[in-house]
Amino acid sequence: MADYKNFTIARDTDGIALVTWDMPGKSMNVIDGSVVDDFTKIVDEMAADASVKGVVVTSGKEAFSGGADLSMLESSFTTFQKMKKTDPEGAAKFLFEQSSRLQWVYRKLETSGKPWVAAINGTCMGGAFEMCLACHGRVMSDDPKAKVGLPEVKVGLFPGAGGTQRVPRLINTQEALQMLLQGRTYDGAKAKKLGLVHEVAAPGELIEKAKAMIRAGLKPVQPWDEKGFKLPGGPVYSAAGAQLFPPANAIYRRETYDNYPGARFILKCVYEGLLVPIDTAIRIEARYFAAVLQTTEAGMMIRSLFLSLQELNKGARRPANVPASTLKKVGILGGGGFMGAGIGYVTAKAGIDVVLLDRDQAAADKGRAHAAGIEDAAISKGRSSPAAKEKLLGHIVTTADYAALADCDLVIEAVFEDSAVKKTVTESAAKHMKADAIFASNTSTIPITGLAKNFPREKDFIGIHFFSPVDRMMLTEIIMGKKTSDKALAVALDYVRAIKKTPIVVNDTRGFYINRMVLRYMSEAYNMLIEGVPAAMIENVAKMSGMPVGPLALNDETAIDLSHKIMHQTVRDMGEKAVDHRHLELVNTMVEKHGRFGRKNAKGFYDYPAKPAKKHLWHGLADLYPQQDPDTIDVQELRNRFHSVIALEAARCVEEGVVTDVREADVGSILGFGFAPFTGGAISYIDGLGAKKFVDQCRHLEKKYGAQFKAPKLLREMAEKGESFYTRFNPKPAAKKAA
Ligand code: NAD
Repeated sequence: MADYKNFTIARDTDGIALVTWDMPGKSMNVIDGSVVDDFTKIVDEMAADASVKGVVVTSGKEAFSGGADLSMLESSFTTFQKMKKTDPEGAAKFLFEQSSRLQWVYRKLETSGKPWVAAINGTCMGGAFEMCLACHGRVMSDDPKAKVGLPEVKVGLFPGAGGTQRVPRLINTQEALQMLLQGRTYDGAKAKKLGLVHEVAAPGELIEKAKAMIRAGLKPVQPWDEKGFKLPGGPVYSAAGAQLFPPANAIYRRETYDNYPGARFILKCVYEGLLVPIDTAIRIEARYFAAVLQTTEAGMMIRSLFLSLQELNKGARRPANVPASTLKKVGILGGGGFMGAGIGYVTAKAGIDVVLLDRDQAAADKGRAHAAGIEDAAISKGRSSPAAKEKLLGHIVTTADYAALADCDLVIEAVFEDSAVKKTVTESAAKHMKADAIFASNTSTIPITGLAKNFPREKDFIGIHFFSPVDRMMLTEIIMGKKTSDKALAVALDYVRAIKKTPIVVNDTRGFYINRMVLRYMSEAYNMLIEGVPAAMIENVAKMSGMPVGPLALNDETAIDLSHKIMHQTVRDMGEKAVDHRHLELVNTMVEKHGRFGRKNAKGFYDYPAKPAKKHLWHGLADLYPQQDPDTIDVQELRNRFHSVIALEAARCVEEGVVTDVREADVGSILGFGFAPFTGGAISYIDGLGAKKFVDQCRHLEKKYGAQFKAPKLLREMAEKGESFYTRFNPKPAAKKAA
């Protein structure tokens, strides 16, 4: 029996081999090159060994496996790109072979003539679940935390190891498409109900149940290899197929605007694959998989939404010289307010004690009630339990007394956006805080360096900028003041990690990073409105560009009267020229003439009639400016304007040193306000096009629409030298330094 790096094999007296996947030195099994090598040999060994009657495959870790190590795919793609320059045919062959290796191993497994059963002891995703799907039997743990699924579409790919073929041969085609296109995951009960697994068992009985299936004579033949096999959802060319595929295509387009090749290829794989026998179907899948790997979208999405996201979550930006801190208690000033209550909730949910402090006891109590409300809603959806709610609320105390902050490791200020109020509360808190506790402000607009002056230890003052709604938004923007220390940064990052959010670390500037991009997005929509682009077209094209919310709808959420207030304040502070007078006129008209403040008074760019009626664009918008004929407007150019105006602001932030790590620039733009995820983020959008093409596009837009499209010096230089952001600002060495 051979020795394997990642697997052990134990045989019992009945001739059943138990293959346990347990990668040395890793907390999670992933599929990398060495796993593929090992598993290929194991499949051969099991098939060749006459003493083996059947095989159970399981994992030695808590989870079964997280799926493929995507850096492996990234490196295959890099090799492909290098080879392509000298040997395009060889390069295509290489990529096809690399990307179909697993497929053929799994196919060999299911046709080996021996019964294989997967004992899915914990979460099992992607390529690992495809391994299980190739097994003739699947038993899954009944632990509600254990999930199975094929989430590849979320990183621009699709399941390319037989998943697009086996799932719709196992379950109804419609369910299969939903699972694949949405990257859905299921617990054991649901997976069994759907027909994805055969049995559910208590963790301790899993292996025995799996072996029992073999002992009971499990047939080593998949249903689709049996004569007379019928697809669970009926053939493609049938009444059921005719009712399914045309609407599926329409829904795909409605949901993605055809921006995601991974999703498009899923539809193609399922449609084309179900027309032919499994071996041909697998070849079809392999071709599309090699094709999807070559798309810019997949490359960028893997990098930002998988690799960079993981690196940032693991503390890529954490100063290594500061020992890890464990936060036991966090104080929140303004803890009864909208943001403070949300921050309190996510903190308590992480098992950290929370002191919600507000102006008086009643105001502070609102914060606790908010947490109870979120939990009640979660309980009603089956996502929490009364016991979990009580446990969470047990972590929260409410008060108006600053003495309660005495043993807090971190205090977060989330009072009104008013420098004077912030000064008062900071000074009051400082008097009671421990000598080494860190103070953070959640301000969205006031520079951190200035606010730090209110705190006696400026080095221990930092910005932690949350996004609303706090319990749902995954990003936090950590802002370094001029004097902020590595220790404060490390504590802030340890805290963000504890509450399971993704941090980006930025330097202090007005608007920090995310809001600068958001403002550009909304202000370009103002320009379009003023030019007479119909409002519906502005909103729809924004969504076609991959933005989750149209800019006018977003402005309604952030409030038009707030835009009005900010613009007038800017004029008072910096003079008339500091704002675009046409924009000022627009907000004056909206707020002063029409009383349209946004969603908060149910009157903004949209009207918000009483439910169940849906919001709709305010008809009066068409009367504000002479309207252009929509048929004469270049949709692609509107798209380019949205993408470019935001990407340019991101590039300026890199040039100014506001953002120092391009991974953060990309991940922040996607998690912060949903910038077109298929691009890999605002910086990857530029890299995807190439700096030269992007700068040319900007020159064209600048001539037609104005200075907001002027490419900064950095970009012009990059265009000349043929550089990309990820080559010029290689994030890996930069990551070692603090901000
Ligand atoms: P809010 O008005 O809902 O809450 C502010 C809270 O501060 C209130 O509960 C108020 O009672 C309390 N407060 C005011 N003065 C106080 C004092 N002297 N002592 C103790 N408590 C006091 O405001 P919000 O929207 O939650 O904003 C709070 C902060 O978060 C602001 O700095 C804002 O810029 C920032 N922020 C807001 C958002 C957002 O979407 N609303 C997003 C990110 C950051």
